[in-house]
Amino acid sequence: MMLKDQVAVITGGARGIGKEIALRFAGEGARVVLYDLNPAQLEPTVAELRALGSQAEGLPVNVTDPAQVDDAVQKTLDKCGHIDILINNAGITKDGLLLRMDVAAWDAVINVNLRGTFLCTKAVSRLMLKQKRGRIVNIASIIGLIGNAGQANYAASKAGIIGLTKSVARELASRAITCNAIAPGFIQTDMTAMLPDEVKQAMLKQIPLGEFGTPADVADAALFLVSAASRYITGQVLVVDGGMVM
Ligand code: NDP
Repeated sequence: MMLKDQVAVITGGARGIGKEIALRFAGEGARVVLYDLNPAQLEPTVAELRALGSQAEGLPVNVTDPAQVDDAVQKTLDKCGHIDILINNAGITKDGLLLRMDVAAWDAVINVNLRGTFLCTKAVSRLMLKQKRGRIVNIASIIGLIGNAGQANYAASKAGIIGLTKSVARELASRAITCNAIAPGFIQTDMTAMLPDEVKQAMLKQIPLGEFGTPADVADAALFLVSAASRYITGQVLVVDGGMVM
């Protein structure tokens, strides 16, 4: 029970990597609060968490909207009394080659991935500063480190998250708040399921450990970064990619 009585907010927690992080944290005794777009998707995930004995909550939130984010953080505070952990995980892709990428696809990805991370971090860190403790983990991507043809918007948003992580780490360190990023490689979720088979096979050839990652691999890294075992680590990017980028 590494996270007993701790309150963890997880954005995009209704499915994929966010859901797996929620299950992992709940298993360690955390009270998890999921912020996600779609109430119909939140409900079964919250029910699954509660069935495991967790005091889980789900709030429909669009992380790009400052009013919705502030309102959700206030509701979380009213209900739970404190927020100890923030996982900025909500993210989308809208791929296309640069010359064909329209402004809407650029804005949508930057807004959810980068603006959303900024807004949630700003709202939650206000409480963490008062508490003089807290753990923030931002889900970036190896694409933010190495770039990718067809993902200029996504790569820029994830590189932006890495810069944001380091700045926030520096600003909040004096109050015992850490802020780190995880850069996953190819993880098997709905986001990657839609890729064509030949793309997946080409990716697999570039992974020294010889297999795709699972949401559980990312959840394990997230657990480390919010646990006491990482007390002295801040402003870092933990790459979880089977050795793809080294
Ligand atoms: P999924 O698409 O499976 O899940 C993303 C979740 O975020 C969904 O529940 C989605 O809701 C929610 N979401 C999307 N937009 C918003 C929003 N505006 N406000 C609140 N919630 C939102 O993605 P993954 O689990 O694969 O990815 C999770 C994170 O990990 C992302 O940041 C992604 O970039 C990152 N990542 C993933 C990798 C992978 O290989 N899968 C690799 C590297 C990084 P809805 O279902 O309603 O759309």
